[in-house]
Amino acid sequence: MDHFHYLDRVLQAEEVPVPEIAAAVGTPFYLYSTATLRRHFTAFDQAFAGLDHLTCFAVKSCSNIAVLRLFAQLGGGADIVSGGELYRALTAGVDPARIVYSGVGKTKPEIRYALESGILMFNLESEQELVAVQECAAELKLTARVSFRVNPDVDPQTHAYISTGLAKNKFGIAIAEAGRVYRAARDLANIEIVGVSCHIGSQLTQVSPFIDTVAKLKDFLARLAGDGIEIKYLDIGGGLGIRYHQEEPPLPAEYGAAIREALGDLACTLILEPGRVIVGNAGILVTKVLFTKSGQKKFIVVDAGMNDLARPSLYDAHHGIIPVVKGEAGTEVADVVGPICETGDFLARGQEVPVAVPGELLAVQSAGAYGFTMSSNYNSRPRVAEVLVNGREFHLIRRRETYEDLIRGEAIPDFLK
Ligand SMILES: *Cc1c(COP(=O)(O)O)cnc(C)c1O
Repeated sequence: MDHFHYLDRVLQAEEVPVPEIAAAVGTPFYLYSTATLRRHFTAFDQAFAGLDHLTCFAVKSCSNIAVLRLFAQLGGGADIVSGGELYRALTAGVDPARIVYSGVGKTKPEIRYALESGILMFNLESEQELVAVQECAAELKLTARVSFRVNPDVDPQTHAYISTGLAKNKFGIAIAEAGRVYRAARDLANIEIVGVSCHIGSQLTQVSPFIDTVAKLKDFLARLAGDGIEIKYLDIGGGLGIRYHQEEPPLPAEYGAAIREALGDLACTLILEPGRVIVGNAGILVTKVLFTKSGQKKFIVVDAGMNDLARPSLYDAHHGIIPVVKGEAGTEVADVVGPICETGDFLARGQEVPVAVPGELLAVQSAGAYGFTMSSNYNSRPRVAEVLVNGREFHLIRRRETYEDLIRGEAIPDFLK
């Protein structure tokens, strides 16, 4: 459920008419709803009520510091994948004791920064990474709390680019090899083993791959216990999907119930790393129609492009497109394309979309996750504004970039002067 709805044919975000925001900030812009973010976070977190757990929001899905602050206020932690995300999380006020650091390629400066910040744990993905963390921790005379991300070889049945839990993917350590790595880690002076982690993929629409994974993790924990290695945290990652089009993903409550049952009486703190399921349907991208073209095919050229929302181009992802002001004209099948010089620059292809005329506003739905965070300056397009609605108010939480922002940090060397 989200808080975007029509009132007298005009799209509202909570209690604010979207055209009002467009008039104030210009287009395109990302628009998030506080009530929806709060509702989704709470519904997810409540699905694990009564169980010792920590919900660490996956920062990469939507990393604006205002959004991170909201989840921190709701008691959430953060799942980060870079030093930059650590900086964002700390700036937003996330408790470092609730931050887990995932990702396959952490650099030493990033590792030192995380150690000095006192994060909860590193989710390590290789023995070489373990050595790097041991070296940094020894230098700083600190102890690094670690878990290893194991790869359970489970098929998440999602898009190949966002499958991470198969043996052929670059992620984690094969579950059959992981025991040896844990035994090696036990002997290192500045390493404290605290967890086992896992993340099998994104936009999963069934619970069974999660359940298969939990079963494999439980077997693995029993084997570790046999070696005298006790685990405090079991991190099962994120990945729960949302409805973009016709998907019917399990509700957080169903997912939570299934995970609980699979865990049985396991005495660990459960860590969850949801991203998309919390923010995906809490945000839209508002764009303006520039031109329409009809030939062999109908094209609607809008002012947002693949640099602003990469998912359709990157994953062939479907995003619903709806009018901001509902007219009488109805819908038609068309391509909604951006201004970028690439044929791959589209927001929708051969999709039922509103019959639109230049100057009209359109809303691209389900754009809250992997929307702004994947945007770029390609074609030297300033990155768009981000706006957060709260009841009757709206707030600019990231101003639109300027042309000066585009060349910040660039320089013409002396020999060209
Ligand atoms: C991307 C990612 C997540 C979040 O995935 P969602 O599908 O957005 O829930 C969680 N954990 C790790 C390690 C990730 O890389």
